[in-house]
Amino acid sequence: MAILNILKEGDETLRKKCRKVEEITPRILQLLDDMHDTLEKAQGVGLAAPQVGILRRIVIVEIDDKKYEMINPEIVATKGKQEEIEACLSVPEKYGSVVRPSWVKVRATDRYGNEFEAEGTGLMARCFCHELDHLDGILYIDKATETFTPDEIEDAE
Ligand code: ZN
Repeated sequence: MAILNILKEGDETLRKKCRKVEEITPRILQLLDDMHDTLEKAQGVGLAAPQVGILRRIVIVEIDDKKYEMINPEIVATKGKQEEIEACLSVPEKYGSVVRPSWVKVRATDRYGNEFEAEGTGLMARCFCHELDHLDGILYIDKATETFTPDEIEDAE
């Protein structure tokens, strides 16, 4: 078990395009385990490998009892539109309003090499889009219609 350092906005690694995983090696499995530990510690809902400095197409998403490990994930279908507030472990002390599809279906490979599909609405759909964007060097602040500080969010509530 290891807690990895989460890179912050301004680090060039976050802006690079990640390479596909060609083979699920012990190192990849270790990375998945470490990403879970790191996400749990950070109390986030999703984490992409480039956020911990690894330029590979891997994300994990953990929302309530739904946990996904996604290797080489791709969005294969979307429906509708939603606009909600997002945050990112790599962009601390900031929130932003982002338009995303309201339903998203993702195809990916699991740690055993099996292809699977996952779909989600609401936060899950947003999280899939947000994490997959990281694999192409895109941060939510690039897409946000507005950004806020934590104080501004509190004032609005
Ligand atoms: Zn993020």
